[in-house]
Amino acid sequence: MRQYPIEKYRDIGIIAHIDAGKTTVSERVLFYTGISHKIGEVHEGAAVMDWMEQERERGITITSAATTCFWTSTRDLSRAKDDDEKQIIRKEGEYRINIIDTPGHVDFTVEVERSLRVLDGGVVVFDGVAGVEPQSETVWHQADKYRVPRICFINKLDRMGASFNFSFNSIKERLTPNAIAVQMPIGAEANFEGVIDLIEMKAYFFEGEHGEKITEKEIPADLKSEAEKTRTELIEKVVEKDEALMEKYLAGEEIPANDIRKTLRKATTSTELIPVLCGSALKNKGVQLMLDAVLDYLPSPLDIEEIKPIKGTDPKTEAEIIRQPNDSEPLTALAFKIATDPFVGNLTYFRVYGGVLKKGTYILNSTKGEQERIGRIVRMHSNKREEVEEMYAGDLGAIVGLKNTSTGDTLCDPASPIVLEKITFPEPVISVRIEPKTKADQEKMGIAMRRLAEEDPTFKISTDHETGDTIIGGMGELHLEILVDRMKREFNVEANTGRPQVAYRETIKGEAEAEGKYVRQSGGRGQYGHAWLKVKPLEGGKGFVFVNQIKGGAIPQEFIPAVEKGVKEALDKGVVAGFPMTDVEVALYDGSFHEVDSSEMAFKIAGAMAFQEAAKRAKPILMEPIMKVQVIAPAEFLGDVTGDLNSKRGRIEAMNDRANIKVIDCKVPLSEMFGYATKLRSMTQGRGSFSMEFDHYEEVPGNITQQIVEGKKQ
Ligand code: GDP
Repeated sequence: MRQYPIEKYRDIGIIAHIDAGKTTVSERVLFYTGISHKIGEVHEGAAVMDWMEQERERGITITSAATTCFWTSTRDLSRAKDDDEKQIIRKEGEYRINIIDTPGHVDFTVEVERSLRVLDGGVVVFDGVAGVEPQSETVWHQADKYRVPRICFINKLDRMGASFNFSFNSIKERLTPNAIAVQMPIGAEANFEGVIDLIEMKAYFFEGEHGEKITEKEIPADLKSEAEKTRTELIEKVVEKDEALMEKYLAGEEIPANDIRKTLRKATTSTELIPVLCGSALKNKGVQLMLDAVLDYLPSPLDIEEIKPIKGTDPKTEAEIIRQPNDSEPLTALAFKIATDPFVGNLTYFRVYGGVLKKGTYILNSTKGEQERIGRIVRMHSNKREEVEEMYAGDLGAIVGLKNTSTGDTLCDPASPIVLEKITFPEPVISVRIEPKTKADQEKMGIAMRRLAEEDPTFKISTDHETGDTIIGGMGELHLEILVDRMKREFNVEANTGRPQVAYRETIKGEAEAEGKYVRQSGGRGQYGHAWLKVKPLEGGKGFVFVNQIKGGAIPQEFIPAVEKGVKEALDKGVVAGFPMTDVEVALYDGSFHEVDSSEMAFKIAGAMAFQEAAKRAKPILMEPIMKVQVIAPAEFLGDVTGDLNSKRGRIEAMNDRANIKVIDCKVPLSEMFGYATKLRSMTQGRGSFSMEFDHYEEVPGNITQQIVEGKKQ
């Protein structure tokens, strides 16, 4: 049985630039929601906090990929006349908040995007001294891309140099003109005391050891006029979104607080307005009101449906299917993260979009076309795992021990197959050689790498057939560095790595034919293999296609797979500079054989020889990964930044203004982007930032190909 109606769900993420205070805010959220849920149990609150401190000491992250907690609005609770009534209000007004972990580091595009994909709303945390930091912009734009409704929390107002107004203005100027202050601080820096709610027009103070006791007071006299002024700005923006309210307002009527919140909620869930709040997580101020705002303004799975319906396709007919976020729909869920847990092993985190996921049933992994049995389902709380029988639309949890499910797969009712829009994971664009420091590490390294690859679909492992070296591939230098570091920390494997290499590829632009003949007649039994091949280019992304056009038994059937095998091996090392060849069709159309001397081995070699010769004649080219790069820098540095991008073979596609900031969208070859973070920092006195993701492969210009072939360029 469902315990909480879906409109009382909030599936959210806490999004922040590193150091803005995401961990501290998350800890406080878990602490306060822990007290809220268990109220009445003596010292329970302290126990939660103790537990969290222990965890921190042991260095374990307190947030799993999805953590569930509960919250009742403090505004509602404050209406209670006595404890009994409080209990009733608490039960009736309780919401389920599922917090989806978002990475603090924006370089992990894939991590950020997959969490943005499954959450319905976000709390964006800012440092009240720094305001909008360069990298906050990158995350903000990613959230824009996924149309994620947001509220902002300006944190650290207790710090020296903190300023609510400065930070709020930086949000308005650099991120969005639609930000509106729904709170203002009482005091600042060491004298930061509490928060004014501009909708209720009341002051709130946070007392008790962890700020858990909230007292409501009148707004201090010296702040009254400023509060009135800021409130007017707020009301004017809100009434614009609702005609009836606008009429009331123009007629000079007082707008009830509830109406303001209702309209602001609509405007926030449709991403038209962004409420801004404030506080200090470290000093235990404002976090509970931020949780109230999560209930007030961020969408439930029902609201999100209006702006982002749950779409998928029928795996057979490819017809579009829309699912409603309710329990009576056929099961539709998305696996968004695979993690290894030291106690239970393999955990597959999922979100249910429609229907019910039941323990003990068989479901279809429609992405892979395989059935899986749901053994155990767990819901993660801050301090425990709860085993559950069922999960409903809007729920997030983890399945224990799924065998064949990877990140991004759809799990559904076998009777109503649907494949949700995939989270697309690009192929690695960079690789390095890796070897264990000691022989003893060899086996452990293999296990560690496989585990990491299961969790991270953009991390790939391969072997160089010639040298036998292990090669790992990923999405950037930093990505691979972190993975190597995790191997050391989590799996105790020490490894040496080589220099990062761009993952070039080769293909052909023309068509050609060639012959491969492998004949040896020296003593004993001879060798005889002979094949004629035709090669032609395929559309990008099509890979490799082999066509058998042999007629009249020119080559006996049994040797044809050997020719294909030879071609495949030759594809691994292209004819331009030894990089893998792709997007080619190879047709085997003629050849000959010898009754006694022909063998699979001889045909394999003949196939490889013929392919190499044909590829050389078919205008072979080198292809390189081109990255989509967005550089954000103050206008005064524009000349330097664009000049530098041009010298990197960059193509500038758009240049936009955002207040005093220039946003440059461009495409740049990956090989030119090594060390760009440092270069940009020094070019812009630390004020520029950039984001980069893989876009497509493109032909390398002739002169550069020459340098690569001669080994003069990476
Ligand atoms: P994260 O990197 O975003 O997870 O940030 P953390 O929560 O780890 O915070 C970074 C640093 O800022 C830590 O030293 C925190 O103690 C500190 N910090 C976090 N919140 C506040 C705050 O409200 N006030 C002050 N003064 N420091 C804070």
